[in-house]
Order: sequence, then C-alpha cells, then structure tokens
Amino acid sequence: MNTSIDIIVPCYNEEPGLNYFYTETRKVLDTIENYRFRFLFINDGSQDQTLRELRRLAALHSDVWYLSFSRNFGKEAAMYAGLKHTDSDLVIIMDADLQHPPSMIPSMLKGIEEGYDCAAARRTSRAGESKIRSFFSSMFYRLSNRMTDVQMAQGAVDFRVMTRQMVNAILQLSEVERFSKGIFSWVGFRTKWYPYENVERVIGTTKWSFWGLFRYAISGITSFSIAPLRMVAVTGFIISLAAFLYIIFTLIKTLMFGIDVPGYVTILCAVLFLGGIIELSIGILGEYISHIYLEAKDRPVYIIQESHLEQNSSDSVPDTHHKE
Ligand code: UDP
Ligand code: MG
Repeated sequence: MNTSIDIIVPCYNEEPGLNYFYTETRKVLDTIENYRFRFLFINDGSQDQTLRELRRLAALHSDVWYLSFSRNFGKEAAMYAGLKHTDSDLVIIMDADLQHPPSMIPSMLKGIEEGYDCAAARRTSRAGESKIRSFFSSMFYRLSNRMTDVQMAQGAVDFRVMTRQMVNAILQLSEVERFSKGIFSWVGFRTKWYPYENVERVIGTTKWSFWGLFRYAISGITSFSIAPLRMVAVTGFIISLAAFLYIIFTLIKTLMFGIDVPGYVTILCAVLFLGGIIELSIGILGEYISHIYLEAKDRPVYIIQESHLEQNSSDSVPDTHHKE
C-alpha cells in the first residue's frame, strides 16, 4: 500500500524560510513509510521573491509543485486552490513558517489509520502572543460557538490531515467568502485533536494585523450564523414593548396629573439610545447584505498566474507553465 499525500502550503512573503521549511519537513517525512508525499505550495501573490524560491525548489526536488496567484487573495483562497488542485488519497494543510511542527505528522497519520477522517492540531498555549490578542481570540470562540451550530475547537489551527472524502465534502462548499475553521467543522466527519504548545515564528513575520483578525472574526460569525439577525429582531421587540408600556404609563400620568413640561433628559436618552440601536441594527443587516453581495457576484476565489503541477492533478484552470 502506498497512500499518496499532498501537503498544501499557503505562502505569502515566505521567501526567507521556504528552503528551511522544506528540508525540515522532508526530514520528518523521510522517516514515514508506506506513504508518498508531495508538496503543493501556493504563492499567494507574495511581494518578495517567494515565487523565485518556489521555482528553484521545484527545479531541485521532484516532490515540489506550486501554484502562483496573480495577486494576494488571502490564505483562505490559497488553501481552497490547494484543495482543488490535488487528487491525493490524503491531504495535509500546514503553514510555511514551521509554526505547525512537522514532527506531529507521523502521529496525526496514525489517527487517520485508526479510522478518523481528520487529524487536526490544536494549540494549548498562546505563548509569544499578545494578551489582548489571546483575549479577543477566546472571546471569538465563545461567541461563535454560542451563536452558530458549528462548534469550533478553541485554539484549532489550520494544520490538518484529511481524507479524500472529507476534502471532497469541503470542495462542495463553493462559497466565495471562505471561513475554513467553520467549513472544516460544518462538513462534519470524525476529527481527532492533537494538542501542541505554540511555536513562535522563527523566520519572517506574521501577516495578520489586529484589524485583519477582527474583520475575519466578524465575517466568520456572520457567514455561519444568523443569530445576530435574530438579535436585531428580538431587541426591536423588547424596545417596542418597553416603549408601549412607557406610553401607557405617561398617558395615565398625564390624564391624572396633567402635563409637566420638563422631560428633556428622558427625551434625549430615548433618542440617543434608539439611535444607537438603529445604527447597530443597520450595521448588522449590512454585514449580511455584504455577504449576499459578494456571493452574488460569484467572482473566482483566486486567479492563477503560473503553475507547476503534474498534469493529472490540475483542473480546468488555464495554466501557463506545465511540467510533467
Ligand atoms: N498566508 C497566505 N496569505 C496571506 C497571509 C498568510 O498564504 O494573505 C500564509 C502564510 O504564508 C503562512 C500562513 O498563511 O504560511 C499563516 O500565516 P501567518 O504565519 O502570518 O499567520 P499566523 O501564524 O500568525 O496566524
Ligand atoms: Mg504563522
């Protein structure tokens, strides 16, 4: 038995560390028997010389393949492109910065051999990460797990081994705005979790800004849950009810005791409060409309400018550089 495994590696400005990533990972793979490994790097429109480095690696090693995007489409798009361009029996997704320890691959493969459909890594510590970021991250997991049907594991990272069956299921979700953490969980299947200590990035820098993560979190929640929409409706109902009661109270008071003119503070509070709630509600609606807008345009998730793939593993995307 020789199971084929493709390792999908999204790369954005990873030139300095790619060679090291390849040799370190290859070292681990060489100790594993009965599997045939290939690397499929996705150059996500890097501004540095990542593409040149990939061309060099591909010329040197017969197990290195790559796709290169015409611009930066984001890691989600890169992972999707990778999944679309492989037909291997198992698929591994991992980062190019060695923050996902290759040494975990052998035990993760054991999980698949045990009959799991997916073996996924989960960070148990957030060493080396700022306090604020960890705080918001844990808030996000709590919020989204409460509001959505899909349960996302705290600290889950995009380091996974998946069976062909699960990959095919993921590819059936063809949405343009992809939120993989949710998608992985939404498709179901049995996942075995592998906890590990956070590894700090050795070479290069993180591509995530705080606001980038914040937007990602909002779009993650709103693409898997309509709970915020319900909240708008419920808030509207509660406020209407309260207003109704207050109107009756005021009417009775006026009928019995006449009008007392001062009421400036009450009016001001009501106006500001309602104004805030209305703005917030419109914002939440807007979030969903933006999802509809982006999905309705149905633009491609990524555009490939150059690819170096084995012939049989490419789909109908026009490729410029083919090599057998
Ligand atoms: N990445 C990508 N496109 C992007 C941003 C990141 O392909 O727009 C890749 C990056 O090269 C790395 C992985 O996604 O392999 C994780 O990125 P990073 O290390 O910056 O994120 P972090 O580990 O801080 O979450
Ligand atoms: Mg990283």
